[in-house]
Amino acid sequence: MINQSTPPRLIVFSGAGLSADSGIPTFRDENGLWHNHNVDQVANGLTWKANWNLVRQFYNDRRTSLDTVEPNAMHYTIAAWEKKYHTQILTQNIDDLLERAGCEHVVHLHGKLTEMRCEACGHKWDIGHTSIGETDRCINVPKCQSLKGVRPNIVFFNEHAPNYRIMYESLRHLNKTDCVVVIGTSGIVINLDSLLFDSPCLKILNNLESGPGIDETIYDHVIFDRASKSADQLNDLVNNHMSRYM
Ligand code: NAD
Ligand code: ZN
Repeated sequence: MINQSTPPRLIVFSGAGLSADSGIPTFRDENGLWHNHNVDQVANGLTWKANWNLVRQFYNDRRTSLDTVEPNAMHYTIAAWEKKYHTQILTQNIDDLLERAGCEHVVHLHGKLTEMRCEACGHKWDIGHTSIGETDRCINVPKCQSLKGVRPNIVFFNEHAPNYRIMYESLRHLNKTDCVVVIGTSGIVINLDSLLFDSPCLKILNNLESGPGIDETIYDHVIFDRASKSADQLNDLVNNHMSRYM
């Protein structure tokens, strides 16, 4: 029995492919590996301190280059869904394009490029699209001011991802009135197959192409095309489904 008092839920789960059409390279596609860096060197929880100059420069470049990109049609479509439906936006992306398209509540599973964090005191702060310098300290004055604790507020490989808890919670107990839309992810870092395969919700996948990391057979609709080009088709599928249960 469907509980009609509970509005249908829309869960949007995105990866690097969502922002690829805005000009932010993905990790694993042909032109991936941002600026030919090795992700193990620049995003590794075990080595970032030893590589701090490289790590700092790498994220400074990513952060300042956010000034040169804009949200694409898919980001705006997601923002419109959030206004219309009971929506949970989960993203692996560290860019701010969803927010800039108008999304109000975005769960960044791997942190945010625009934020710094201090490992010494736990303080977090926004630095927008600016660079941080070699001598920049924690801004938690006068309590902390640590130099060595300052880092991007990004989840590196080999680190705990505190927001995964929100993701697991969101994907539990979905019913047939709910809808999950997965956009632009290889499934290699986070794989939703085991969470979604027996869920009765409507499942929609959009990727550029088929890949080994995702079992496409568990999805009700699969669209292989650029996210920005697929926005209208995804919008129709989501609107058709959600309007049946509103
Ligand atoms: P990934 O690089 O492993 O996979 C990219 C996926 O996107 C592939 O499945 C590919 O088919 C698809 N894709 C590529 N171009 C597309 C397009 N134009 N439209 C639709 N789909 C497209 O990315 P991932 O699964 O997100 O995992 C990589 C990790 O890299 C994540 O943890 C993420 O934090 C990080 N990352 C983030 C950004 C960003 O913030 N924009 C960019 C690169 C990597
Ligand atoms: Zn501090």
